[in-house]
Amino acid sequence: MKPEIPAAQQHLFDTGHEVGELAKRYFNSGVEIEAEYYELDKTIKFTEDAIRQGEDVIFEATALSPDGAFSRIDILYKVNGSDAWDLIEVKASTGVRDYHLDDITFQRYAFTNAGYKIRKSVLMHLNNQYVRSAELEINKLFTLEDCTNIVQENINDIDGNLKNLLGVVNSDLEPSIDIGDHCNCPFECDYIHHCWQHVPEYSIYNIFSGRKRDELLVNDIIEIADIPDGFETTDRQYIDIRSFKQNQVHVDKDAIKEFLDTLIYPLYFLDYETIFPAVPLFNNTRPYQQIPFQYYLHIQEKKDGDLRHVEFLYTDDTDPRPDFIKSLVDNCGDKGSVIVYNQSFEAGINNQLAAYFPEYSDRIDNITGRMTDLLVPFRSRWLYHPEMRGSASLKAVLPAFVPELSYEDLTIGDGGTASITYLSCITGIVSEKERSQIFQDLKDYCYQDTLAEVMLLKVLYDNE
Ligand code: SF4
Repeated sequence: MKPEIPAAQQHLFDTGHEVGELAKRYFNSGVEIEAEYYELDKTIKFTEDAIRQGEDVIFEATALSPDGAFSRIDILYKVNGSDAWDLIEVKASTGVRDYHLDDITFQRYAFTNAGYKIRKSVLMHLNNQYVRSAELEINKLFTLEDCTNIVQENINDIDGNLKNLLGVVNSDLEPSIDIGDHCNCPFECDYIHHCWQHVPEYSIYNIFSGRKRDELLVNDIIEIADIPDGFETTDRQYIDIRSFKQNQVHVDKDAIKEFLDTLIYPLYFLDYETIFPAVPLFNNTRPYQQIPFQYYLHIQEKKDGDLRHVEFLYTDDTDPRPDFIKSLVDNCGDKGSVIVYNQSFEAGINNQLAAYFPEYSDRIDNITGRMTDLLVPFRSRWLYHPEMRGSASLKAVLPAFVPELSYEDLTIGDGGTASITYLSCITGIVSEKERSQIFQDLKDYCYQDTLAEVMLLKVLYDNE
């Protein structure tokens, strides 16, 4: 059985739906085939009716080829003065991916074999160069890429693949196929809970890939405990395996000391939360641009000194950036290390802010220039705990070294949920009553992330 849809995946579906609805506005007119995807006969009949009635733009048009290839295209577009059609598939991405090409190749196959004369195969996706300046300009929001040539090159592969796929779909037996990278690429498969049940949560799959992993699998080795001594590894892999087998923390005191010696007090422990809406909500933003709406700051004047706290959460439904920047530069001082976890994220946000708000660029650049990445000692294995299970993410490192500080009791326990939840507040999906609780949950989460930085720095000092 398929598991329930997680919130992050549902958000992706909702984004796809939002983008699909906007794409229809790109065309001045059009008719929608109103039937559920499983009502095959109905959708085909409605599509044929729409064509007979002279419709030139048909949304969700459906075709079924005699060999069973069924396709529902986002937009079937009549070529002016001809009996041919263009197939236009809408994607919420900002570019063409390989699996998009597979999609439209299959669609062309189905429509062509169902008797349609097809001219172009087109992918319509978001334009990441579009900067919103007032009302959304639908014609600039989208890019249409003609993929006809590559689709025609690939279409001959469909025949053989289709026979295999139909064989699987029509069989009562589970297909016999090994697990592997395809289970997570291009997306995580819904059946991992079933096919991967013999694989421990932490296994050779977390450490090795390619030839090295195959070498172990050939010898039926999946558990890390079974990796033979002397098996060829990188330094990092060696530390991960040895720590796990001996259940021991690995410490490189010299490297930790060198890292700690770079710190300059006062320390500013900083963490951002962002949204990245597919369709720009505010002026001067692009599709999927990261927009910071919250930060938390713990300030420590001297080693082991008391902590002073500053929090910022923008609760209006307008652009949070002007207030965010002003508060940030006012509270980060002009000297002292700014501690972040995964610097590329906060530094990337700062660089964007500096570009869009040049009046603040010097002060923002000053903050970026003072950043120290607390991720580095853990990612570099200067300090490694077997419970990190090969990951240096904050959510892996914190419970390993500071188990008393848990995310489990928090309503919002990760950045993705924080982002989706905040978006639901400012786009009016949740009630006023829910908003205040959500804002409190966001504050609790961001507080915890920065407190985690404080605690992990203490862990490093303890291992110096
Ligand atoms: S988990 Fe992997 S092997 Fe199982 S159905 Fe999905 S892709 Fe296939």
